[in-house]
Amino acid sequence: MAARSAPYLDELNPAQREAVETLQGPVLMLAGAGTGKTKALTARIAHLMNQGVRPNEILAVTFTNKAAREMKGRVGRHLGEAVEGMPWLGTFHAICVKLLRRHGELVGLKSNFTILDTDDQIRLLKQLIVAANIDDKRWPARALASLIDGWKNRALTPEKVPNADASAFDHKGTELYAAYQERLKTLNAVDFGDLLLHMVTIFQTHGDVLEQYQRWFRYILVDEYQDTNVAQYLWLRLLAQKHQNICCVGDDDQSIYGWRGAEVGNILRFEKDFPGAKVVRLEQNYRSTPHILAAASGVIAGNKGRLGKTLWTDRDDGEKVRLIGHWDGEEEARWIGEEIEALQRGTRGLRSHELDQQAILVRASHQMRAFEDRFLTIGLPYKVIGGPRFYERMEIRDAMAYFRVACSPDDDLAFERIVNTPKRGVGDKALQNIQRAARANETSLLEAARLLVSAGELKGKARGAVGQLIEGFDRWRAAVQNNENHIELAEIILEESGYTEMWQNDKTPEAPGRLENLKELIKALESFENLQGFLEHVALIMDNEADDGGPKVSIMTLHAAKGLEFPVVFLPGWEDGLFPSQRSMDESGLKGVEEERRLAYVGITRAEELCTISFAGNRRIFGQWQSALPSRFIDELPEENVDVLTAPGLYGGGYGAAAPSSGMQERMDRADAYNSPGWKRMQARSQSRQTAQPTETKGLVIDATAVSSHAKGDRVFHQKFGYGTVMGIEGDKLDIEFDKAGAKKVVARFIVDAAK
Ligand code: ATP
Ligand code: MG
Repeated sequence: MAARSAPYLDELNPAQREAVETLQGPVLMLAGAGTGKTKALTARIAHLMNQGVRPNEILAVTFTNKAAREMKGRVGRHLGEAVEGMPWLGTFHAICVKLLRRHGELVGLKSNFTILDTDDQIRLLKQLIVAANIDDKRWPARALASLIDGWKNRALTPEKVPNADASAFDHKGTELYAAYQERLKTLNAVDFGDLLLHMVTIFQTHGDVLEQYQRWFRYILVDEYQDTNVAQYLWLRLLAQKHQNICCVGDDDQSIYGWRGAEVGNILRFEKDFPGAKVVRLEQNYRSTPHILAAASGVIAGNKGRLGKTLWTDRDDGEKVRLIGHWDGEEEARWIGEEIEALQRGTRGLRSHELDQQAILVRASHQMRAFEDRFLTIGLPYKVIGGPRFYERMEIRDAMAYFRVACSPDDDLAFERIVNTPKRGVGDKALQNIQRAARANETSLLEAARLLVSAGELKGKARGAVGQLIEGFDRWRAAVQNNENHIELAEIILEESGYTEMWQNDKTPEAPGRLENLKELIKALESFENLQGFLEHVALIMDNEADDGGPKVSIMTLHAAKGLEFPVVFLPGWEDGLFPSQRSMDESGLKGVEEERRLAYVGITRAEELCTISFAGNRRIFGQWQSALPSRFIDELPEENVDVLTAPGLYGGGYGAAAPSSGMQERMDRADAYNSPGWKRMQARSQSRQTAQPTETKGLVIDATAVSSHAKGDRVFHQKFGYGTVMGIEGDKLDIEFDKAGAKKVVARFIVDAAK
């Protein structure tokens, strides 16, 4: 048969091939990372078409638009020129938009309905909250938005919201939800969650429409099935009921969207939903080296209630997973930047890798700032995947707009951006008035607003609120001119303007991340003399980013990295409180931390050849050092698959060679951070490695209980007592004869080897 020799089949192993060639009936491919699930799914699409199935009879759902594009490309390549038309291939949302344009009238929509963005959604909800006489300070619109999103993810229309949720949002949640849906209908609009909800409703209430699509989509394929929510699950189940030709692939260990309503249970009950399903298990991993695979397996083994899977690879051992600790986040970024360049040049004694072969995967998007700043400074090309770059983020642009007006009151663009953020009652009309006054008087918007306020021409809330803002700018401007501390000033501006508070009151899942980004912005100011210098720096780098199309390092969140692979992967910020996140650790029960652990598994398994995990012992937040403990996940890495590297700034290098800097004592005082089990183990490993390779630099000793590298007669340095000679060692204490201060007993961890 011609199909048997098709190259896309020849590339598969027997288990994959079975999944690809079983065209009739339900198929579940439940397998670990990198086992070729997505590859098999793509081959299956090609195979269906090769077997004469028409493209429009195939419905394939992927998790991201990027994945859909890649899959389309691959199917095209498999089939060559021969294809006419492409299957329905896209995300749940993209496919539902298409369907809803055709059938929206069944839920009261015209085919040209608009899709609201989050801002519109919030504005609308706020109107409803105010109209219902609810205090929107205590009950903010964003909280209602996320409540409603949650219901929509569970496919609950207002009538279906269970009694258990009746008390939500001051007992008014359901009522407001119903009002909101009515309002959307009048506006001929939908929000994101409606796309699926409406289609599920239509399928459930209009048997004829459902049947049409059941007949139409004879073959259904779903990637990343473990991350589907209830609405998506119902939608699929309805569509697949007739032919039952549904092929789902996924990995319960990679379920990372529980926080957005995904139900890993969907994949676990597939066989119940589709009796007689063929379940194919794939066990060979083609992506990663054995060390990487073993490290990932070691971490995920810490989760309870897993299905458990065998994974093996026949690749060569390769490098161990590298683990390294740094003083702080800036140093972590500097080290990774250097490492990336060294790997690009091939000067690490490892295979060389172009920049587009390397990726940095972070837990929280605010972590990106340190990397972006560093890479911009050293001219290392990078791109941020799945989100805006740091300085392009909404909250960062808002904050910078405040700083810009404080430095240059004539900056109209910046003023316009924030005059009503947070809300000050300045609607479109009020803004037009300000603009008109500015033109008539040939002044800046700020001055025009001042005129209107004093002439009583701004009405209602706007008058007081804008007046206050202008006073604020006068004060901040004076502070800039007096050269007051710019870091404190920046914090004051964000506080007094109500901007920080706006996000503190915001109950959406994104709000904590935005607040973190703002802290990160303040942190960035520390490298500059004043606000103007900083603003110039940002303006220059934003201007300088013309894309030459050359290879770039990718920076993205772990969530955005799902399904992707890179030869070289860096996983920074493995600290308790960051990864696992503080929120997951605060939750009662293990669920939150288990989801974080799956995220760690996703992260490590993105790497093909080289995986480097790092953490910083200190992070500077609002000008204060905060110590951090190495992530508990570091403890879970199997020792035999890990190589502990020595950070130059941590053990020696910069510090060991010269007298300690003035920040040293502060840092040493923070050394308690290094008493965690993870850190000690790391130290011990590092020590054994250093013994094995005596050429390694060795200098500052953080915790002599773990690493006692002193010997009698050693010359050492103590921040307070100066230089001295070790006379005796007693556990973690040293007897030292200081040159000036005389004999003292001191704790070893406060001692630094003196420059030799
Ligand atoms: P994830 O769970 O991370 O989404 P996956 O199971 O979807 O992983 P793929 O991305 O399909 O895995 O495949 C991982 C890598 O292994 C890809 O580079 C793919 O080309 C390769 N691969 C898959 N199957 C085979 C095979 N039979 N022979 C050789 N290489 C393969
Ligand atoms: Mg995949």
